[in-house]
Amino acid sequence: MIDNLEVDDMVIGAGLCGLMYGLTAVTEGRSVVISEAHHKVGGYATNFYRNKRKFVFDCSQHKVSGLRENVGNLWNTLKRLELHSLLEEFHLHDEIGTVVYKDQWIKIPSEPDEIKETLIIHFPDEIQGIEQLFKDIESHGYQHYMFFRRLMNEYTINKEILRESRNLSKITARDYFETIFKGKNIIEVLSPIAIYSGSISNEVNAFYFLHCLYAMFYGGQAYVKGTGQHLSDVLLKEFVDRGGIILKKNQVHEMEDCRDYMLVKTRKNVIKAQQVIATCPPEDVLKMLRKEDYIEDFQNVINNFEVGWGHFCVYLVISVPPEEIDIFSPEYLLVSDSGDDFTREDFENDRYYDLFTLSVSNYHRFDPAGGYVLQLVMLDHGDRWFHLLEEEYLTRKQKIQDKFIKRAFKTFPKLEGKIIYSESSTPKTNYKFTLATKGSAFAYKMLPKTNLSLLNNFPNDKIKLVSTWAGGPGYETAMCFGFTQGKLLSKTTKV
Ligand SMILES: Cc1cc2nc3c(=O)[nH]c(=O)nc-3n(C[C@H](O)[C@H](O)[C@H](O)COP(=O)(O)OP(=O)(O)OC[C@H]3O[C@@H](n4cnc5c(N)ncnc54)[C@H](O)[C@@H]3O)c2cc1C
Repeated sequence: MIDNLEVDDMVIGAGLCGLMYGLTAVTEGRSVVISEAHHKVGGYATNFYRNKRKFVFDCSQHKVSGLRENVGNLWNTLKRLELHSLLEEFHLHDEIGTVVYKDQWIKIPSEPDEIKETLIIHFPDEIQGIEQLFKDIESHGYQHYMFFRRLMNEYTINKEILRESRNLSKITARDYFETIFKGKNIIEVLSPIAIYSGSISNEVNAFYFLHCLYAMFYGGQAYVKGTGQHLSDVLLKEFVDRGGIILKKNQVHEMEDCRDYMLVKTRKNVIKAQQVIATCPPEDVLKMLRKEDYIEDFQNVINNFEVGWGHFCVYLVISVPPEEIDIFSPEYLLVSDSGDDFTREDFENDRYYDLFTLSVSNYHRFDPAGGYVLQLVMLDHGDRWFHLLEEEYLTRKQKIQDKFIKRAFKTFPKLEGKIIYSESSTPKTNYKFTLATKGSAFAYKMLPKTNLSLLNNFPNDKIKLVSTWAGGPGYETAMCFGFTQGKLLSKTTKV
């Protein structure tokens, strides 16, 4: 066992962000150690097995955006890291999924022109608004999407639209839709797409939402076979092959500023590092510091942000191929007749689970090797789960699982009698495996006026917050932010 190490960069956490930072930094010639609390790498980009490894469940991968050749930022990043064989393992989805709303089944294709055409066919009266939406995605959405590249001086802000971009960041996506569309129906069909970025249209700011639509519609969305874990394992292998050190089952507990270096204490090691790259939640970084290094003002900065959504997931295995029970699309978004515009009261009295969009993911279509696997997923929040005692927790979990299955039966009646395995997870499960605050799966909420750049200047310049908490959620963002910061921070002091 290695007890003491001395490195340029000590990375806390081997999720996608940490792995990409590490891989980039070692490629730039730095010495890097990543310390991960869990026994396997990937954070949310992991999987688990049941029934003697016959059933394989992906913990998060639905759509990895930014993989269209020469267009997507993630494609660009993986190419620059010479991960050519990994790039070949990504398969572009041929459709985004099917939105089921008021007996309409609207299949959303994957190419922007086809998406626009589909919307016009279903909502001919909204043609003006649809044209405006695509114009805004191409201008403001693109502008937000390119912020990472701007950090590396590879994109110049379009000042002509900047004021309007800023205005869009002050309103919600739903407010924005209400300004461009005449009726409610098209809004309820477009709104649920926000859940792929862990957002809800009546919360998320419109500027960021347009970014997500750009990333998904134009950037190209894809998946890797073998679940998100395969992606994490490939990144880990490259990191180690290029000279990086990984320490698993090794939670970081404490760190001390020793002026010329940071001294980091993990479960098994003491590590001397020039820089600490924290991919864990910012509030945990503060807890790791000694009282005298603790910076009250930064706690106030963190208090500006709202911890984002986790999720409730029902993992199902069925006895027949999903096509036999009329599940063909890779994904269905089941929107209730009242749409996603629920109230605080609906959320607090559990009516939320009947109203909010439920996604049905057909993992068998992504990767048949995992079995006849379906997942029913809804955004959910740690606040509803963390305080419960064991028995209450289990009872509530069963209740919500039953609600989801009942909702799925309504849309897919042939599912009834075909379920041979089921289990569910909550935000509390998320916390157990990732240590994310309140089990948030999507870091902080991207509400109107949320400004993540406030997190870029941690008061100790040997500590950098390089995480989805500081850069925004999602596979593409986690990986591109890790890469960008790996490039930029590699220019600083070496051992
Ligand atoms: C159900 C679900 C579906 C999703 N679907 C999509 C999707 O389709 N497309 C998409 O782009 N995104 C999706 N996401 C979001 C995406 O998975 C995450 O945004 C992304 O994986 C976060 O990566 P990360 O590296 O920032 O953080 P994490 O994955 O949370 O990794 C952080 C790592 O740090 C470790 N850690 C924390 N504290 C410590 C410590 N003190 N010491 C050592 N290690 C520590 C954790 O164990 C973890 O491994 C989904 C998420 C969920 C849950």
